[in-house]
Amino acid sequence: MANQTRIPRPRLAARAIGAIVVVLEKGPCGSTTGIRTGTRLALLYRQAGAPDRPLDMPQSHGMRIGKILGIPIYLHSTWVIIFAAITYSLAMQFEQQYPGWTPAEQWSVSVFTSVLFFASLLFHELAHSVVAQHYKIRVLSITLFIFGGVASIERDPSKAIQEFNIAVAGPAASGFLFLLFWGLTKIFPSNAVVSSSALWLGTMNGWLAVFNLLPGFPLDGGRIFRAIVWGGTKNFARATRIAGTTGRLIAYAMILLGGFAVFKSVVVLGLWSVFVGFFLLNAAQETVAQAAIRETLSGLRAADVMSNEVPTVGRAISLEDYGAEVLRTGRRCHLVITDDRLVGMMNVHTLNSVPRDEWAHNSVQAVMIPRERILWATPDEPLLGLLERLLSADINQMPIVSGSDDGAAQIIGMVSRDSILRVMQTRSELGPLSFGAAGK
Ligand SMILES: [Zn+2]
Repeated sequence: MANQTRIPRPRLAARAIGAIVVVLEKGPCGSTTGIRTGTRLALLYRQAGAPDRPLDMPQSHGMRIGKILGIPIYLHSTWVIIFAAITYSLAMQFEQQYPGWTPAEQWSVSVFTSVLFFASLLFHELAHSVVAQHYKIRVLSITLFIFGGVASIERDPSKAIQEFNIAVAGPAASGFLFLLFWGLTKIFPSNAVVSSSALWLGTMNGWLAVFNLLPGFPLDGGRIFRAIVWGGTKNFARATRIAGTTGRLIAYAMILLGGFAVFKSVVVLGLWSVFVGFFLLNAAQETVAQAAIRETLSGLRAADVMSNEVPTVGRAISLEDYGAEVLRTGRRCHLVITDDRLVGMMNVHTLNSVPRDEWAHNSVQAVMIPRERILWATPDEPLLGLLERLLSADINQMPIVSGSDDGAAQIIGMVSRDSILRVMQTRSELGPLSFGAAGK
């Protein structure tokens, strides 16, 4: 139904690894909604030597348009394309249906309807978000983009029932809007503006509810399906693989049907179906990759991968000297000390945030991460949770602190993303052999 011939996929540059996200996503024109985890973790997985998987979710947010329930709302640049396409196709439709309308009337009703449609998508994402917040899962953002809406939440739900309720809230919200708009067409049957707009919006929301209930990742229905299998089998990884497989089947079906439609000269709708199919395919694969990461890192703790080496630098040295130290030793992260007291942390990333010509005039102390902002981990923190914290804070390494007998905390090592990647790589090379408990 989207009236466009060119639909660039929102294949966005993978930026520096950020938060672990669970994505609730949905597409206009009866396309996609679902929840998806961990594009960035999937990137990590790729770096760790797993098969190449394209990334196509919005990683950069785009323009911020406001905040609802404490959640920042963004419009991604690709959103403009779908907004224009829908508005244009509505204007063409109204032109045919209501020849008496002036072009100004056609276009203003189209724009108004289009805006309400995206408000409907936002409503769908907010419904997921409210339930997530109810379970104390922080919602990081909602972004509208070419394939619909995306709510990024901080972590996966910890129980199957939570996942079920979060996922079902979206289609329920769209179903509610379907009834609401359908009711409006009954209340104002003689008002052409209201009834034409409401009829279209009701139909679209109805399709969104139905389409998104298809039982495969990354659609909401896939999440619901996974929650049921997860609850039944108590096996999250297996449930994810099953929902990922049905998601791939749905994606292949859309690609094939779309190709068939193009062959039958239903070009625009066919192409759209093919693009959405590819989008779903990638998303399903990423979800499975995400589950593989969880499986790979399960049972590991910070102490298993930390390096016992904790390099230090003095706070007074210049950035120039710090750069030389990094180059000389290859160490990328240092604790900053003065008189044996810890005052902060310094790393290459922070160094690079200062223009090179200012290195000589600035000391480490001026730019370091101050002590109170350093994130810590304990030796027995599970590695997956630690990785999530590293990603969501966008940092590369974390000191490991253990309480000593006299109560004073002591830094005993560092865990870096690199060391986690290495262990992921090794484990994925060894395969399932590495999982079971060693030493029988
Ligand atoms: Zn949804």
